[in-house]
Amino acid sequence: MLTTQSVQDWMQKVNEYMQENKAYLTELDQAIGDSDHGINMSRGFQEVSKKLEQSTYDDAAAVLKDVAMTLMSKVGGASGPLYGTAFLKMSMAVKGKDTVDKEAFAAGLEAAAQGIQQRGKSTAGEKTMVDVWAPLVSWWKEQDEIDPEGLEAAAKEAMEATKPMEATKGRASYLKEKSIGHIDPGSASSYYIFKSLAEVLV
Ligand code: ADP
Ligand code: MG
Repeated sequence: MLTTQSVQDWMQKVNEYMQENKAYLTELDQAIGDSDHGINMSRGFQEVSKKLEQSTYDDAAAVLKDVAMTLMSKVGGASGPLYGTAFLKMSMAVKGKDTVDKEAFAAGLEAAAQGIQQRGKSTAGEKTMVDVWAPLVSWWKEQDEIDPEGLEAAAKEAMEATKPMEATKGRASYLKEKSIGHIDPGSASSYYIFKSLAEVLV
């Protein structure tokens, strides 16, 4: 379902979406943050893309570990360490597998979502990227087979559900009820991560 190559393709797609949507992510962060999420994501995944192009990998875990290390070292702001932790935990959960099947990836996703929550001291409902990762873990486990279109739709729905939420974590929480009515920037970048995943699943 996910091979060493398809994990690399996944990350290259994420990079494309982050570059294409840099202005949109910045706009979202302008409304309820400090306007740097587009810059953070485009720079971070550009570096990931470069790193993967220069390397060869034995397994999916090794790819994910490099993604994590690159994001941690190249992305400033809250999102760098949060995504870095997510991909590092995912890497550890799928270690030793050449091909990552639905069950193995469920464990990877769950570890990633828990990693974000531990690192961010956050939980679902606080208007953060957790509001995409946590529901997607549940969605993934409920499926008998992963339908790419369903995956994209579930991620989009989760992202859009952050709009009416009031932020209680991250910079947006300073705005209190004024954070209501805007999509959380980190949920939007997480949506691109899952949209990209849907495009590489085999
Ligand atoms: P910064 O907030 O430092 O400017 P970014 O703008 O790159 O960093 O990322 C902001 C995003 O990070 C938010 O939209 C939110 O999704 C996520 N985020 C911020 N704080 C937390 C947290 N404590 N837990 C989970 N996610 C968080
Ligand atoms: Mg920001």
